[in-house]
Amino acid sequence: MTLSKEQEMQVRSWIDSKTGSLTCPVCQSKSKSVEGMVAMFPVNTEKNVDMNFQMPVVIVACGNCGYIMPFSASKMGLITKD
Ligand SMILES: [Zn+2]
Repeated sequence: MTLSKEQEMQVRSWIDSKTGSLTCPVCQSKSKSVEGMVAMFPVNTEKNVDMNFQMPVVIVACGNCGYIMPFSASKMGLITKD
């Protein structure tokens, strides 16, 4: 799922409302870029990674060092659970 400009603004607004100003845990930069799509992360069930269970995430990358931070797309209100 590719994010529209409105959804990208929603992501930035959500991050700012939850973090004040997101700081990279690696380099402490406040520069960030929102990758323009929802990615699927495999979920570890019991002892194995099960590709049938995936969590939709929005990837936010540090604008300085490139460290990536996945955020739950459903928590952000981008995806509703059926
Ligand atoms: Zn960084």
